[in-house]
Amino acid sequence: MQVRHFIDGEWCESGQWSESLDPANAGIIGRFADGGLHEAQAAVDAAARAFADPQWSQNPRLRQQILLDWAAALKDRQEELANLLTRENGKALAQSRGEVGGAISEILYYAGLARHIPGHVLEVAPGEFSTMLREPAGVAGLIIPWNAPAVLLVRALAPALAAGCTCVIKPAPQTALFNAAFLEPLLQLPTLPRGSVNLFAETGHAGAAYLVATPKVDVLSFTGSTATGTRIMQDAAPTMKKLSLELGGKSCCLVFEDTVISTVAHKLAAAATIISGQQCTAARRVLVHASRLADMKKALTAALAGIRLGHGLEATTQMGPLIDWRSRDLVGQRIAESMESCDEVLLAGGQPGGALSAGAFLSPTLIAHRDSGAFFCQEEIFGPLLILEAFEDEAEAIARANHTEFGLSASVWTHDTARAMRVARALRNGTVWINDHNKLFAEAETGGYRKSGLGRLHGYDALLDFTELKHVYQNVGTL
Ligand code: NAD
Repeated sequence: MQVRHFIDGEWCESGQWSESLDPANAGIIGRFADGGLHEAQAAVDAAARAFADPQWSQNPRLRQQILLDWAAALKDRQEELANLLTRENGKALAQSRGEVGGAISEILYYAGLARHIPGHVLEVAPGEFSTMLREPAGVAGLIIPWNAPAVLLVRALAPALAAGCTCVIKPAPQTALFNAAFLEPLLQLPTLPRGSVNLFAETGHAGAAYLVATPKVDVLSFTGSTATGTRIMQDAAPTMKKLSLELGGKSCCLVFEDTVISTVAHKLAAAATIISGQQCTAARRVLVHASRLADMKKALTAALAGIRLGHGLEATTQMGPLIDWRSRDLVGQRIAESMESCDEVLLAGGQPGGALSAGAFLSPTLIAHRDSGAFFCQEEIFGPLLILEAFEDEAEAIARANHTEFGLSASVWTHDTARAMRVARALRNGTVWINDHNKLFAEAETGGYRKSGLGRLHGYDALLDFTELKHVYQNVGTL
């Protein structure tokens, strides 16, 4: 398999190619054109020319039809794409199928919204009208991560296109093949105006940095770590462009004394090991009422120890490898340091041997600790590490959960419905699940408080990240 850039309506190469590897076994899946600054500049110029044409930016019916046609073409390739996603990212095939299906559903959601981006009109005085017009922001730069490259591409691209922006997409190099394959049916549409959607891949960062720094990009959407998000905010500041930043998290799961621990433990083990712990909202800290700590230790250890590792294409696999060997080593090192300094190691994970030794695998680790200020309770460690803490009462549970610089998501586990709502209200997070975890929907806005980011993706509000509000005043006089 070989994929190229798509700039100004043409597939193109740039002298250099890079390989994409299967993280489960180091096999070569294919190669992608490896670009940089030159491709980013050409793509932004093409997008700026396309935006100037009102036949795109002022034509919601065309934009809806294009989104509908893309979704229809993807449906024919769903299984093939899920397969490629598993091979390139490593996640279990059932998760890839769910992700590709969810992404198609989300394109349909924004296809509908493309024709419903209303402003409003106010009569401010006799004969004087203020029209508030919601307009597309302009050229959108989209930097997409590797952990969920279908859904996280669509949740930025579909609202950007629905709103009437033109786009430049920069996928993560780890999933460049999948992103090109997923976008191909859109890019091939004869009705897609030249330059309205552009794609380039790079193993370096020069192209991405250009998208951030150039005043020709009006809105920049980035999903990735808080460290890179902070750098992007600084580098974008001179241009004052709009920023949509979906960053890191450290999700707490608050488990009260009235729950069935064995059932909750299984759900939390799955929530912690989803995409091998490489999901921004994955369960990271389990806070359990002190009276149930011993039960939770036993149940969580058993649930995590029972998770089956393997190649994502094997039917028995519940958890695949990490995205690459570099990540495995960095995350593995941080987990080893956590095990050295925590109060108690309940399950020591690590690199499996045998048939899995060539892959970037790490089995799950569970530790228990009292001090929520410990580095492993505060830092986002992007892999299969779960930390268990105890609390005495509701106030302590909330204080512990809010003791973090992140604010992406959390879950509350109790059958006391008033307590569930009270605690959900007190948590400083963009999403709180009650008796569940990791439930994300096209319709429901997702985003972070504090260092977990700016703006919201998914839902109607994602459109706001890609629009400007214009006030048009007119005095028409009175009769
Ligand atoms: P990362 O921060 O390493 O981002 C990598 C991307 O940033 C690459 O595409 C790279 O080209 C680009 N980049 C690097 N330097 C840049 C610069 N100076 N200017 C512009 N772009 C630059 O993140 P990652 O490891 O790819 O992804 C994992 C992180 O993503 C985790 O922190 C996770 O929590 C977060 N994440 C958040 C959400 C969310 O919805 N909040 C969803 C998924 C992942």
